[in-house]
Amino acid sequence: MPPRPHASQLSFLRSLLFTATLLYALCPTPYALSPKLYAQNPTPYALSPKPFVVMLSMDGYRWDYPEQCHTPNLDRIADRGVKAHSIQSAFPSKTFPNHYTMATGLYPDNHGIVQNSFYDPETSRKYAIRDRDAVEDPSFYGGEPIWVTAEKNGITSASFFWVGSEAPIKGIQPTYWKKYDHNFPFENRIDTVIYWLNLPEEKRPRLVMWYFDEPDGIGHTEGPHGEATFQMVAYLDSLLGVFLDKLEQLPHAHEINVIVTSDHGMGINTPDKHICLKHYIETDWFREIEGWNPNFIFKVKENYYDTAWQALQAIPHVSVWKHGEVPERLNYGRNPRTRDFILVADSAWQVSLTGRHSNSAGAHGYDPFKKDMHAIFYAKGLAFKQGYVHPTFENIHLYPLICEILGIEPAPIDGHIDYVKEMLRP
Ligand SMILES: [Zn+2]
Repeated sequence: MPPRPHASQLSFLRSLLFTATLLYALCPTPYALSPKLYAQNPTPYALSPKPFVVMLSMDGYRWDYPEQCHTPNLDRIADRGVKAHSIQSAFPSKTFPNHYTMATGLYPDNHGIVQNSFYDPETSRKYAIRDRDAVEDPSFYGGEPIWVTAEKNGITSASFFWVGSEAPIKGIQPTYWKKYDHNFPFENRIDTVIYWLNLPEEKRPRLVMWYFDEPDGIGHTEGPHGEATFQMVAYLDSLLGVFLDKLEQLPHAHEINVIVTSDHGMGINTPDKHICLKHYIETDWFREIEGWNPNFIFKVKENYYDTAWQALQAIPHVSVWKHGEVPERLNYGRNPRTRDFILVADSAWQVSLTGRHSNSAGAHGYDPFKKDMHAIFYAKGLAFKQGYVHPTFENIHLYPLICEILGIEPAPIDGHIDYVKEMLRP
């Protein structure tokens, strides 16, 4: 990912963006229709012949940001629909494994994107999020993403930067998709999604998966309690308001179900809680070391297996497991791509190979059962109850939730509709 703005830059940026957002919000759209046209004639969910699902992921949107910031537009969704206490990531609570879990209903061990970067021993190839050839190679992606299930069922789908949508998985891509461009403005993403939803009926996608890379970036640099992080959360909420306003002006707005969620939360890092792996292990013992704070996976040279295992176990403030011995609750460590040893730092601890400080005030990747790794879930539309609060649930259940709303049969998955059905209207 390119460098993120510093807090001082952010303040200037924010004032510019705020002005731009205001102008943008005030600008009339060619399809502006009175909300009364549809608001007076709601269609019961069960009778809606062609329901839509539009799911936005805002990266690293920790579950409790709305409790600490002014987020009137998330509140607006909660009032008209559903919010969950929180949504729980899969392990490791990293971006690529979790976005693909959200898309497939499978744990990372079962869909194969086990880390943001990893080595595949079957093909002797490496996957990395910045490697275009790898990202576009369907052989890395297991399971069946929701857009593939939708397209197989004759439902047109669209993706704006969702992990996996740049590869023809099972030979299928969303009808509309984009090559990842980190600098593509959020405002233009909104306009594109509205444009897609306003296409003639025969071309219009009924499943849209889209993505904002914030507040993850600012959460890393400024931490989950940083003032600049809260400013970004408020800015994102204002954008969400622009999106909802535009969406609600569409003539078929009543058929569109909106989900706003995220891949993981954000934990606090401080320079005093830092472990340097090189103080405990020799890199010569290993064929590969993959990962980044706070997760690493190791392929050890055969002669060093015991030496390396003993040394890894002696590292303080981390958990380390052998392949196949990760605690059951984490559903991880059996895929060959997770190699010989799996290491994760304890909450709030940073771990690096070289000892160089990242200067990050925030990180994720930790045990997803820890509350600071939890993210947000909000949803509204005919499919959802109104003013309902759902308990915390795992993000493996998003895939069956979308299948249920669209009325399509899910592929075999780890998630189950029973965990989320209560939020839907009977
Ligand atoms: Zn992320």
